[in-house]
Amino acid sequence: MKVLISADIEGVAGVFHPEQTRAGNGEYEAARRWMTLEANAAIEGAFDGGATEVWVNDSHGGFRNLLPDLLDARAEVVLGKPRTLGMMAGLEYGASLVFMIGYHAMSQTRGVLAHTINSFAFARVSFNGVEVGEAGVYGALAEEYGARVALLSGDDVFAEETAPRFPHARFVVTKRASGQTSGATQSPAGAREAIRSAAREVVRQHIAGGHVPHATRAEAKPVDCELRVQTSALADLFCQWPTLTRVDAVTLRFGAASAEHAVRMLNCLSAMSFMLR
Ligand SMILES: [Zn+2]
Repeated sequence: MKVLISADIEGVAGVFHPEQTRAGNGEYEAARRWMTLEANAAIEGAFDGGATEVWVNDSHGGFRNLLPDLLDARAEVVLGKPRTLGMMAGLEYGASLVFMIGYHAMSQTRGVLAHTINSFAFARVSFNGVEVGEAGVYGALAEEYGARVALLSGDDVFAEETAPRFPHARFVVTKRASGQTSGATQSPAGAREAIRSAAREVVRQHIAGGHVPHATRAEAKPVDCELRVQTSALADLFCQWPTLTRVDAVTLRFGAASAEHAVRMLNCLSAMSFMLR
């Protein structure tokens, strides 16, 4: 059983403020350590449950937050950007189970540090008429590669909004949101223990039940993506791309041949948005 762990920071226990997610200050240095240790708990749990190979993908910001020194030496770390598969880079090595650790609620919700891919650029993202956050966007990509999203962790708002999308997956709730930057958290150690035991159980159950997804690429399904962006200036910029159509001042649409193409398009637009920062 091969497992890919995608690790973000906003859903990690103890993280509530944007300062904790940005490089260049002491609070971030503490938060990236908690992020690394939550990812490590998922790695250890996966191996305890019977995983044979584990990759951990750094899925936050510039994709270089994890501290490899603190990670279980049996896992390989996927770092740096740009990269084609973004938060799911590592799927190409043949993972059949995906864990999303430290994830957060989608943009315009009441979850802690809620956003979708790029809070400066995107207010709302829909795939085929259904609003999606990062778990929905990247879950579609994982499924296209024949992998199954089996374990997710983050705050209660994230768990509640994401559970219907992955009805058979396990969720670990690391904290309860009371606002964008406030709430009540488990201790980092408590969250790690919950992640470790959930990861062990999930891998064990998949092996015992013979439910090992094949990790062969499914036939790509087209994605009709509707995007609400944060300003009309961003819409002006994004519509320089010839295949985007403008629906109104801040709403755009594009068609993609697959989830992978949709993800790559969103990441290109996110990169373009830095021109207007
Ligand atoms: Zn993040």
